Amino acid sequence: MRSRISKTGNRFGARYIGTVVMPVLVMALCLTIFAFSALRSAAQQADRVAADKQAQEVGVAVNGALDELAQSQSGVAIWDPAVSELRKPKPDWNWFDNNVGTWLNFVYAHDADFVLQADDGPVYGMVNGQRVSPTAFFRIASAARPLVDAARGRSTRPPNPHERLPGFPANPGSTARTSPSAIHATDFATIAGRPAVISVMRMIPDTPKVKPMPGKEPLLVSIRYLGSRFAGGLAKTQFLSGARAVRQLTPTPGAQAFPLDSSRGERVGYIVWQADQPGRAVWRAMAPSAGLAVGGLLAALVALMIGVAKLLRRDARSLEQLEAAHLELKAREAQAHHLAYHDTLTGLPNRAFFGSVVDQMVAASHGQDPWAVLLVDLDRFKQVNDTLGHLGGDMLIQQVAQRLKSLCSSADIVARIGGDEFAILLAARGSRDEIASIADAMIAALRQPFEILGTHVFIGASIGIACYPSRGGDRSELMRMADIAMYRAKAEGRDDFRFFTEDMDESVKFRREIEQDLREAITHKRDLHVHYQPQMDASGATVIGFEALLRWDHPERGPLSPQVFVPVAEDTGLIRELGLWVLKEACGVARAWPTLSIAVNLSPVQFRMRDFVEEVTAIVRQSGASPAQIELEVTESVLLDDDEVVRSALRDLRGAGFRIALDDFGTGYSSLSYLNKFEVDKIKIDRSFTSRIGETADAAAIIYAVVRLGHAMGLSVTAEGVETAEQKAFLEIAGCNELQGFLFSPAVTPEALDDFMRTHRRAAA
Ligand code: C2E
Ligand code: CA
Ligand code: CA
Repeated sequence: MRSRISKTGNRFGARYIGTVVMPVLVMALCLTIFAFSALRSAAQQADRVAADKQAQEVGVAVNGALDELAQSQSGVAIWDPAVSELRKPKPDWNWFDNNVGTWLNFVYAHDADFVLQADDGPVYGMVNGQRVSPTAFFRIASAARPLVDAARGRSTRPPNPHERLPGFPANPGSTARTSPSAIHATDFATIAGRPAVISVMRMIPDTPKVKPMPGKEPLLVSIRYLGSRFAGGLAKTQFLSGARAVRQLTPTPGAQAFPLDSSRGERVGYIVWQADQPGRAVWRAMAPSAGLAVGGLLAALVALMIGVAKLLRRDARSLEQLEAAHLELKAREAQAHHLAYHDTLTGLPNRAFFGSVVDQMVAASHGQDPWAVLLVDLDRFKQVNDTLGHLGGDMLIQQVAQRLKSLCSSADIVARIGGDEFAILLAARGSRDEIASIADAMIAALRQPFEILGTHVFIGASIGIACYPSRGGDRSELMRMADIAMYRAKAEGRDDFRFFTEDMDESVKFRREIEQDLREAITHKRDLHVHYQPQMDASGATVIGFEALLRWDHPERGPLSPQVFVPVAEDTGLIRELGLWVLKEACGVARAWPTLSIAVNLSPVQFRMRDFVEEVTAIVRQSGASPAQIELEVTESVLLDDDEVVRSALRDLRGAGFRIALDDFGTGYSSLSYLNKFEVDKIKIDRSFTSRIGETADAAAIIYAVVRLGHAMGLSVTAEGVETAEQKAFLEIAGCNELQGFLFSPAVTPEALDDFMRTHRRAAA
């Protein structure tokens, strides 16, 4: 059982992982991946947007540097005094220093300025604020050459946005903020291996006072390196961190570059800076908390799934246990069924099996050839048992079985129904004489000696025969007739057989008398009493209730068992009045003991009577007792009646508040399946199981199984017929809820009940 459960546990685990855990985990994983990649791509997008914007700003600033250079030149290049000074045969270079070179260096941070005369020969030079020999120009001449040509109008290429070239209109898209008269060429260039902006501007008068000399103007050549000063300025104005100009790019993480291309397509260098990464910053700020949130979510999911798994597993396990209990019970049932129908010593059918075969014969017979039931009782068997012991007795019984069987056909049934009692069903025989001759042969065969344990043993037999359909009747009637005939055979000298005859039968007479007397007793409420048997809790210490049991003190015959007169009352319909009277009496006792439950037996016949439920309910209500205090005991035969009337009566009674107990559980057809179909509150395990405790392992196993099944179905389980302390101890351990039996008390009068309760309370105290 344990291994079965753990196997289901594994199966359950695999199923649970497949149907719940995996999908939930996959879902959680997908969600996490989606959330993270969305966050990530949003961050990257933000970074890209920021980078684009910075690059745009750098572009504007770099172009601005070109404009600024040209604009700073125009202040001195388009100026009468400078032009006039240069036209002098010996210009005053000191004046030039003060008004042009130093000015441009100091105010506009030019790194180098040169002046070229009309023949493009250098006449003035200032580098880093120091006057230098004009020949220094030759060091940068190659870089300046294309711009000099452009400014002179010797260029054949199209203008760049910064040029004011003779013959070309000012570029409409130009951002150069020089004066409209300025003619210049401005561009990026690599000078002395460094990225730079260079501008060449014609020096012209700014008023008509000085005569222009077109084509002969001097040129001002100005250079600014895009070095750390420039980059520093960018860093300040554009908020670029780590901005610098470089010739070559070296890949650095997070760095962004802006290419500096001259208008002739030469890549002069790059402006490089550390890119602003707002997205990355957000990502960095959010990732840990997002990770934490996801972790928390996963943990919650796992906890949830574990919780659900526990719940489901518990459910699965109790279902499993119920199933196991049910299976076990079924197995026991099958085993019990076999044991119940076979005699282990001889292998012959037993009394129950024989009875059911006779039932079938009765049901199938329609007055054809006679058949018969024979009861065989051995004479002197007890003596054999006493002298040769149980072993000898058993061997004798086996040999008797052999001889009886040898005289029967295969259609006949030989059964052992008691210690030394056999029952034989002789199937259809031509005549009564034929049956008589078989019986005679049996007597003769059993008269022959038996060889037991080395000695010869002589016994004999008495046989009673009941024929069908000589008089009819059911199984019990046939058995009773055969029994009566057998006793007659014994009484008349043994070792012979007798057919049942009418004159032997006193029972018919007896029943008629009983019916008459019972009618009388009921009409006058005479000699009838209800006694009450206490029902105890499992420990046997506390009284839980009583069962009402009918008693009849017959004026001539003395006390009669209800088992004798209740069937008569059922056959004649007297049971209706009798049953209701018992209920009324029981209600009186119920009112005297309001905390105890009172059980009342109901006959199956009562269920089929009209208005039965209404009458029962009315009697209880009129007496002032509560239906909740009354327990109605019904037998399995009531449930077996697959009759809607019976079933709805049961339902209605339960609906009215009565509890229903299933009496004599295990004796009838003992199929447990119908327990599911009917609503009962309690099972009363039959006394025959209780009495077999300690005698057969089977009884104990069945009691265990019934208790487990009952509890699994939510039913209370009572054991009847508890007579010994050993039985009580076993039943208590087995888990019975209530116990009833002579060990505690027989059924007693209501007055004696008061005494019982008093002494019981004392004992309990
Ligand atoms: P039952 O309902 O199974 O009642 C239990 C029977 O077992 C009672 O026999 C009781 O006296 C007997 N008993 C109780 N404890 C023990 C014990 O420890 N050992 C032994 N050997 N017997 C014990 P009782 O009173 O003779 O009743 C026999 C049956 O008659 C009842 O069986 C019940 O089926 C029927 N009966 C009794 N009163 C009524 C009644 O008012 N209405 C109907 N319809 N049937 C009744
Ligand atoms: Ca009962
Ligand atoms: Ca019973």
